[in-house]
Amino acid sequence: MNNRETFRAETRAWLDENCPPEMRRPGDVAWGGRTARFSSDDQKLWMERMANKGWTVPTWPRDCGGAGLSKEEAAVLAQEMRELGCRTPLNSFGIMMLGPVVLQYGTEEQKRKFLPPIARGEIRWCQGYSEPGAGSDLANVQCRAVREGDDYVVNGQKIWTSEAHLSDWIFCLVRTNTQVAKHDGISFLLIDMADPGVEATPTPLISGESIFCQTFFDDVRVPVENRIGEENAGWTIAKRLLEHERNSMSTGAGSRSANAKRKRRTLIDDARTALDTPEGKLPDADLRDRIARVEPPTVALG
Ligand SMILES: Cc1cc2nc3c(=O)[nH]c(=O)nc-3n(C[C@H](O)[C@H](O)[C@H](O)COP(=O)(O)OP(=O)(O)OC[C@H]3O[C@@H](n4cnc5c(N)ncnc54)[C@H](O)[C@@H]3O)c2cc1C
Repeated sequence: MNNRETFRAETRAWLDENCPPEMRRPGDVAWGGRTARFSSDDQKLWMERMANKGWTVPTWPRDCGGAGLSKEEAAVLAQEMRELGCRTPLNSFGIMMLGPVVLQYGTEEQKRKFLPPIARGEIRWCQGYSEPGAGSDLANVQCRAVREGDDYVVNGQKIWTSEAHLSDWIFCLVRTNTQVAKHDGISFLLIDMADPGVEATPTPLISGESIFCQTFFDDVRVPVENRIGEENAGWTIAKRLLEHERNSMSTGAGSRSANAKRKRRTLIDDARTALDTPEGKLPDADLRDRIARVEPPTVALG
């Protein structure tokens, strides 16, 4: 066996031994945090086992809570998880968005402080980008951070902050310079939601749910060491983070889309089985068209 095959065999054996049966079915994915709610003991156990192995963030370095896997090894892990039907053990804005930019732009100290708690599901992050006057025109953010000694004093408002009321920390775009072009006066700050002056108010939706919040900052003191990158260089980091957000959404890192993908896969497999076409060529043109609409790129249909 070559290295890759050895890694695959070991990975499969470990997953088979450690993934509880309930976690081999589609369902809720853990989002972690200080006030994490788990749908079952097995969900918690699965998250903890994977976190101990570094496999909640397999490609992150070991001292940041990951397993230091190469992209190829991580792909093998993902394939084996798919084969066994293993549920994603942990999902979060920390994993999808913040972690990758801290790895790229953070200091060594920041990486070791902020990344392991994300990998272990201990701290849940939310995204403080949008404001009432800064949505599509995101660079117009007005939430103000004024330097006072070793702190910034933050005042302002964010809007549409998903799940802020369930989150422990927020990554924020703040204005640190009003005298330059708008893209050049933004900094990227990490703020503890438990700090005095931070308040997240859920916005009730017509459905009765409240997944969005308005988040207010009233003279919140944030240590300068919580700034990622240089002062006023936050726009570059903000854009990079959005790339990671878009990639995560499109590759189905979110629980709902992962489940949707699995369902689509099942639909195609069922269709093939029902029509008894092992080589994947479906004789029914109408069915071909309908399947192509949900899964165009990966299946040879005709
Ligand atoms: C499910 C969901 C979750 C979200 N979670 C978060 C979050 O966690 N954190 C966060 O910070 N934000 C979040 N947002 C907010 C989201 O990023 C904003 O909705 C987005 O930035 C758009 O801003 P807006 O809603 O103010 O729309 P606007 O900017 O007011 O735009 C309204 C409409 O006008 C159009 N428009 C705007 N400007 C122009 C123009 N110059 N020319 C032509 N048309 C224009 C837009 O295309 C759009 O159709 C979330 C949004 C959604 C839908």
